[in-house]
Amino acid sequence: MTTRRIVQILADGQPGESQEVRGWVRTRRDSKAGLSFVELNDGSCLSSLQLVVPGDLDGWDELVARVTTGASLKAVGTLKESPGQGQRVELGVESLEVIGEADADNYPLQKKRHSFEFLREIAHLRPRTNTFGAIARIRNVLSAAIHRFFQDRGFVYVHTPIITTSDCEGAGEMFQVTTLNLQRLAQVQTEIDYGQDFFGRPASLTVSGQLEAEIYATSVGDCYTFGPTFRAENSNTSRHLAEFWMIEPEMPFYELPDNMDLAESFIRSVVGEVLERCSEDMEFFNKRIDDTVLATLANITDNEFIRLPYTEAVEILEGAGREWEYPVEWGRDLQSEHERFLTEEHFGQPVILFDYPRTIKPFYMRCNDDGKTVRAMDVLVPRVGEIIGGSQREDRLDVLLERITECGMDPEEYWWYVDLRRYGSVPHSGFGLGFERLVQLVTGMSNIRDCIPFPRTPKSADF
Ligand code: ATP
Ligand code: MN
Repeated sequence: MTTRRIVQILADGQPGESQEVRGWVRTRRDSKAGLSFVELNDGSCLSSLQLVVPGDLDGWDELVARVTTGASLKAVGTLKESPGQGQRVELGVESLEVIGEADADNYPLQKKRHSFEFLREIAHLRPRTNTFGAIARIRNVLSAAIHRFFQDRGFVYVHTPIITTSDCEGAGEMFQVTTLNLQRLAQVQTEIDYGQDFFGRPASLTVSGQLEAEIYATSVGDCYTFGPTFRAENSNTSRHLAEFWMIEPEMPFYELPDNMDLAESFIRSVVGEVLERCSEDMEFFNKRIDDTVLATLANITDNEFIRLPYTEAVEILEGAGREWEYPVEWGRDLQSEHERFLTEEHFGQPVILFDYPRTIKPFYMRCNDDGKTVRAMDVLVPRVGEIIGGSQREDRLDVLLERITECGMDPEEYWWYVDLRRYGSVPHSGFGLGFERLVQLVTGMSNIRDCIPFPRTPKSADF
């Protein structure tokens, strides 16, 4: 007797095989003819396995009341060809054991549809729903595809620190890390002496592993990070989390066009892999969540991305004849509404914007000769807007020092970063891709809070 997961049974289980299965009850339906039909799901795939329980099964009279939605059980039986639609095989049950009951009066996930807002409040149970089970599997396949993409190209996976004493983005959106007793400090009202703190100086959770990745890129060569990132931005949007996962490749000897080529083939490759490996889940998203998602993804895998300087994008937006909520003007950052207009309406496909004004970009981006722009690039995709932010890095010592000062930062604090420009400096580039924005793109889910198992946002860090 084998115990297999339902995904395998549905794929290659043969009629006549005896089979043990374990999982959680989705529904039970009793027929007039005395049979009971139990939909059993074990999370291995979207589909459930149909268990057919004969009314005269040993002990069924007592058992039946305990086989309710949410209960866990083990069943043994023989696979049969299924006369029903949508499944190849079903299990004719010969014995059944309820492992854990789920009180039908209290189980929050009864069969009816629930709003995503409600499901966020029961994040401990929502992965048992079709939608959140599918998202968990998509995240898994995407993660593996991302590692495969880089590993196949010889990139080294580097683990950059989570606790840091430098602010990469210079945006001041960092969570402080401290062991000081804030309660006591508040009572005695003294100046804070960070010398007494764990690291002897202020420390924070990282907003990006880029600066450390640059160290490894200029020693082991092409490399990437894939880890958690934290930003205390107080923006309650459908695209921002306080804790998210970021993929950050960093490549020596890459200039901006090489960086764009890599970003484009990266997105197309991982999207292609999900379409291939997760067809059942992807059909579900297209049917239940967003009926344009498969077309959007096909458009991404089949077409080259548009490449356009920021300055030309601003001209397009100014000439669009639209009322924007946020004004468009050269020198201002683009907002989600502008990004989405460009990629969804104007071009109808992904767009890479480059050469942004230096005043709106961080210190480490390479300055162009025009004195006004830097070699930045953002990749914009339909429905999500910015999915990647990247740049060619400033590799000239004097220019970098000037920029650090211009951005109001202290070059001393970044001595090790500056050192890389002193010893064997090379042109190099990299980018950051927000993993949950990729999940948003792939699944068609409208809120990023539903694209990570346990979202952290302002005033919310339950579970
Ligand atoms: P945005 O303008 O959308 O806030 P950003 O310019 O701050 O993004 P970068 O600093 O370039 O973003 O970070 C690289 C990538 O990380 C972004 O392209 C995006 O995919 C992702 N990202 C940034 N901030 C968040 C966040 N708060 N939650 C989820 N993903 C994020
Ligand atoms: Mn941001």
